[in-house]
Amino acid sequence: MIDLSNRVALVTGASRGIGRAIALQLAELGADVAVNYHANEAAAQEVVEQIRRMGRQAIAVQADVRDEKAVQAMIKRTIGELGDLHILVNNAGLTRDNVMMRMKEEDWDIVLDTNLKGAFFCIKAAQRQMIRNRYGRIVNITSVAGISGNAGQANYASSKAGLIGLTKSVAKELGSRNITCNAVAPGYIPTDLTANLPESFLEQALKLTPLGRFGTAEDVAKAVAFLASDAAAFITGQVLRVDGGMIF
Ligand code: NAP
Repeated sequence: MIDLSNRVALVTGASRGIGRAIALQLAELGADVAVNYHANEAAAQEVVEQIRRMGRQAIAVQADVRDEKAVQAMIKRTIGELGDLHILVNNAGLTRDNVMMRMKEEDWDIVLDTNLKGAFFCIKAAQRQMIRNRYGRIVNITSVAGISGNAGQANYASSKAGLIGLTKSVAKELGSRNITCNAVAPGYIPTDLTANLPESFLEQALKLTPLGRFGTAEDVAKAVAFLASDAAAFITGQVLRVDGGMIF
């Protein structure tokens, strides 16, 4: 049984989709949670209310993860209002899909800055408290696209592959301080992010998935909760696919 009581977690991009499910799952297992969002304040507030109804503490924290100063302020506020920081989940992410020929520099930059540099800023700011505590659990949400690549997603796949390199490096750098760093790589999960994918892509994805269904945000959240817990105390630098066995 996973027990996260007396743990404080920060989940980036927790207003919607997978991040929302992670925040709720961690709270259900006993953690107090800082719910980060970029623009959707009302959605983040709804997640906070749901967590408070479980009897846990929660705050909504606005920050653009691309902005280092905003990230530093977010970590400071989390520690100030929730008392500590034990678990960091780098989930905030976006896509700007296009074939390379038509991909603009700004499509490249915003995806790399959000998905990869954002995680770097968050880990950099959070590690101080984790080192002080001699305890930390960092989970980065990558993607099967970061492992296998994907046509039309050169920016996204590069950011997610980079996140795997970051995960393995942080695991080596902070392991001696009892801080683990792992990545979770979801397959296709229906959320706002994937709402506009063509029907043909979905049919193909289902055909390649031995478990014969699409994943849910909750499927991903359960894997994150495991890696964020003491049950995973001797696991670091790993990439856990949550993709129904998809051959991608
Ligand atoms: P989503 O439904 O579009 O939600 C994205 C979340 O990220 C929102 O909470 C959004 O906040 C936040 N966000 C975006 N830009 C941000 C920024 N600059 N600063 C802070 N927060 C920001 O996406 P999702 O499908 O849940 O994806 C979550 C993560 O899982 C992403 O890293 C994604 O790459 C990864 N993933 C998803 C799938 C999938 O099939 N869905 C598969 C593999 C990996 P606002 O609500 O305030 O805009």
